[in-house]
Amino acid sequence: MTLSIRWKVALGTLFAVTLALTVAGWLALRSIERVELSRVAENLEARTSLAAFALEPLLAQPGAGRSTRQPEIQSMVRELSRHALARVTVIGPDGTVLADSDTPDDAVSRLENHGTRPEVIQALSAGYGTDIRLSATVGQRMYYLALPMKSGNQIRSVARLAIPLTTLESRIHDLTRAVSIAFGLAFAVSVALSVLLARGVTRPLSAMADVARQLAGGSLGRRIRTTSRDEVGVLGSTLNQMADQLESKIREVSEDRTQLLAMLASMIEGVMVLDCRGKVLQVNPALEQMLMVQGAEARGRAHWEVIRHHELSELVTRVLETRANCGGEMTAAASGRTLRVEASVAGGQRENEACAVLVFHDITAVRRLEKVRKDFVANVSHELRTPLTSIKGYVEALLDGAKDNPEQALRFLEIILKQTDRLNLILDDLLQLSQIESGQVLFKRDPISLSEVVDRTVALIKPLADKKGHTVTVAMPADLPPVLGDPERLSQVLTNLLDNAVKYTPANGSIHVAGQIAGDLPQRLVELSVTDTGLGIPEADRPRVFERFYRVDKARSRELGGTGLGLAIVKHIVEGHGGRVWVEGNQPTGSRFVVRLPAAASAKGGSG
Ligand code: ADP
Repeated sequence: MTLSIRWKVALGTLFAVTLALTVAGWLALRSIERVELSRVAENLEARTSLAAFALEPLLAQPGAGRSTRQPEIQSMVRELSRHALARVTVIGPDGTVLADSDTPDDAVSRLENHGTRPEVIQALSAGYGTDIRLSATVGQRMYYLALPMKSGNQIRSVARLAIPLTTLESRIHDLTRAVSIAFGLAFAVSVALSVLLARGVTRPLSAMADVARQLAGGSLGRRIRTTSRDEVGVLGSTLNQMADQLESKIREVSEDRTQLLAMLASMIEGVMVLDCRGKVLQVNPALEQMLMVQGAEARGRAHWEVIRHHELSELVTRVLETRANCGGEMTAAASGRTLRVEASVAGGQRENEACAVLVFHDITAVRRLEKVRKDFVANVSHELRTPLTSIKGYVEALLDGAKDNPEQALRFLEIILKQTDRLNLILDDLLQLSQIESGQVLFKRDPISLSEVVDRTVALIKPLADKKGHTVTVAMPADLPPVLGDPERLSQVLTNLLDNAVKYTPANGSIHVAGQIAGDLPQRLVELSVTDTGLGIPEADRPRVFERFYRVDKARSRELGGTGLGLAIVKHIVEGHGGRVWVEGNQPTGSRFVVRLPAAASAKGGSG
């Protein structure tokens, strides 16, 4: 059990006070007893001397036989006892009791020999003897004093006076009681005083201990109230200063940490901080997404447990061993993202100190764009080379002599013209696509009636369709809401779709253009579809026909004058209007292209 400082001080003081009081009380009682006894001795000695003086003539008479003088002596002894208020005994030098005031006359001779009594022995040998003991005769504690009675140098007898110590003892007893009461009072006062004193001393210390505990527990706003200027006051104000410093340091550190975490959280790059043993100290939200890991689970674990990637492990091992910055590229298995990792050395040397910082850049989009660019360049070169090779071939043929054959020359020149037109067409489409993609073309956002766009575009395509014997039908509901958009661009979308329908439908087919409302308010959508009874598109190719230069049947497309860019342009324009385009199969044959656009919110109905 540990005692509090208050109890230690209180009990220590009490112990000291109790010890001092006990010793002082005991010494005082002993000293009083001694003084009283010496007074009793003095008094008794005087009385004994007087008794001896009175007895001496009786005992000194020559020839005084004991038996004859004994009654006289006995009576004198009784007389003296009455006056001296003490028991008076006369003892012969051989110890025989000659007279005793407290013994009946006839019993004196039967009294035992007193020669062995200490006071008698002392009186006979030293001329003065005292003793205190319990008297067998009277049954009380008695003070005995004996003096020898001499005639010449010869001791004739010993006069002994004895008084009971009852008075003295009762006085000592009273005194002891008084001292005990005083002791008790002093003890009670000292208990109260020591408790108060201990409280006075320890209360500020307890308050300090309490505040220190709260400071350690995180309540940094707590302070010690001190008014005194003693050591306790100095201790209190020092503790307050320490708490001030601690609070400001902790605030600084937590502000820094908050800023750092905010920076880490807002970074697009993934960040992982490792200690010198490769243990993960920090992971930011961007990296959590890139690697599909939970930051809370990752922290405190080894990096190879968090990211099971051989090359990354090698990179980290290299940076921790060589303490030199390095970098590399990896593909995250979980998310499939391509990541560029830059590992740099931080200052930490010990466990749980930042030793290496890995920054992960998501370069998936960059790599994909690179691939798209490469594919695009390859596609474009291929698309341009085909007509150019053809032109070159026919020009060479003309130069080799065909120019001299007017009929052949004309046919070759017509082919060259056709291929040149095709080149033009490809370049026009490419230019348009690149303008839309780069955002150079801004679409108008006017509420327009799709029915008008449909009518105008169908009228343009009609001659081509007629030429192949196709039937073109239009079904646009009168209550079709307007859409927010660019009429020219939407007309181009429809032109491309109708052009394809005419191209990829064998002669005498049917082409149907329809409009309808899709979705509910407030997200109302307008749907426009172009359905043909042509070749159709295999299901596997359907998602890909909107890619640049993707064709289901390359030869046929070229033969029909296609560039492979029409649907890519359609997709870009529709998406630029916040819409969506896709293709479905038509039953029993053909394709159905669907364009879905958001309806203009404020407008109520279309003109039809
Ligand atoms: P192209 O200039 O070759 O027509 P598009 O981008 O317009 O290029 O079309 C891409 C490919 O999609 C075409 O080559 C063709 O194979 C297929 N296609 C497009 N529209 C139709 C359709 N209505 N019926 C069948 N196939 C189509």
